[in-house]
Amino acid sequence: MFPIKIKLIEKKKLLIDWDDGKEDLIDLKELRKNCLCATCLSERDKQSKMYIPLFAENQITIKSIDQVGNYAIQINWNDGHNSGIYEYTFLKNYSLKTAAQ
Ligand SMILES: [Zn+2]
Repeated sequence: MFPIKIKLIEKKKLLIDWDDGKEDLIDLKELRKNCLCATCLSERDKQSKMYIPLFAENQITIKSIDQVGNYAIQINWNDGHNSGIYEYTFLKNYSLKTAAQ
């Protein structure tokens, strides 16, 4: 499963067209909140479950998106954070999960 097109919507959402004909809309804030890099993972580990993260505008807006091999994208956030790699399978599952809530 591969994205045919990835489009930024109103600087707040990512619209992904998949090669299976489906499309997913993913909230950038949610993506940043669930960043999978080692730094963010360990930071989230230290916080309690009740912690509500607050983000500055430049932490949830995107400077650029790079493709990583043929399995993931790397997001360069406007605050310079870019160590998070989002695998296509994660994006696909993630979006399904949010839609089910
Ligand atoms: Zn991160």
